[in-house]
Amino acid sequence: MIMILKIKGDIELIYVNGKFYEKEEAKISVYDHGLLYGDGVFEGIRIYNGNIFKLKEHVKRIFQSSKAIYLDIGISSDEMINLIQKCVEKNNKKNGYIRVIITRGEGSLGIDPAKSKKSGIIIIVDDINVYPDVYYEKGMKIITSTYRRIPVSAFDVRIKSLNYLNNVLAKIEAKRNNCLEALMLNNDGYVVECTVDNIFIVKNNILKTPGTCYGALEGITRNIVLELSKEMDLKSEETLISRFDVYTADEVFLTGTAAEIIPVISVDDIDINDGLPGGITKNIMKKFKESI
Ligand code: PMP
Repeated sequence: MIMILKIKGDIELIYVNGKFYEKEEAKISVYDHGLLYGDGVFEGIRIYNGNIFKLKEHVKRIFQSSKAIYLDIGISSDEMINLIQKCVEKNNKKNGYIRVIITRGEGSLGIDPAKSKKSGIIIIVDDINVYPDVYYEKGMKIITSTYRRIPVSAFDVRIKSLNYLNNVLAKIEAKRNNCLEALMLNNDGYVVECTVDNIFIVKNNILKTPGTCYGALEGITRNIVLELSKEMDLKSEETLISRFDVYTADEVFLTGTAAEIIPVISVDDIDINDGLPGGITKNIMKKFKESI
């Protein structure tokens, strides 16, 4: 007979609509509009050495996302901050990842969200899944996906919604091409971001990233990098970027809560900086680590 011993700290306690459940027991209704229609928003947050990194910023973003889809979370942002902190404490997690999901809640099979009377709140505290260490040292290769990012004309992608199907398809495409990330373009063919990361290029000592108006998520890590560039006296621009700009950049790197900052050394088999992580990228990676 095999006995599985669970020790405190190994048990994930997941918050679902007011109660804590063990992983296997954490469930939502099949009538939840988050499941039926991707009707909801989410956040991914890091815990470093017991501190929840940029918690206020993430909570602000989830409230803005909710507001933009007429979704009343049902609690205040201070209450949300306290709740997230409580979830981390309950799980006794010193380093890890928090996923906050707000759904429209339980409704009916029809699309009308008015049937969902109460939003759903799910908070998962778990270990973090990052890219292999070697990519941080030697850089990673990416491809351009054939799947486009949701256009701003469909809905503003600053809404961090549960609609990630095209990003999921782009990730599958990346993996089929032996890459872990893929560049996504907008409907006009301009570069906006990757499946779960923002993109930066460096050209002639100027840091550039696609403006959110072109369809990029306003990443929390992206904002940190833009702030760091000021401290580093590095000129930065939020601008329109084409694939040509990426291919001919001096340096390319990606940013995200899970990825942090990761150098890119090849895009669509075109080498960037002769296939080596660039100096400015390495400097920003260092400064970012120091800011944690
Ligand atoms: N773009 C997309 C599409 C994302 O899902 C993420 C991850 N949240 C990012 C960029 C990076 O944003 P952040 O730095 O806030 O994690």
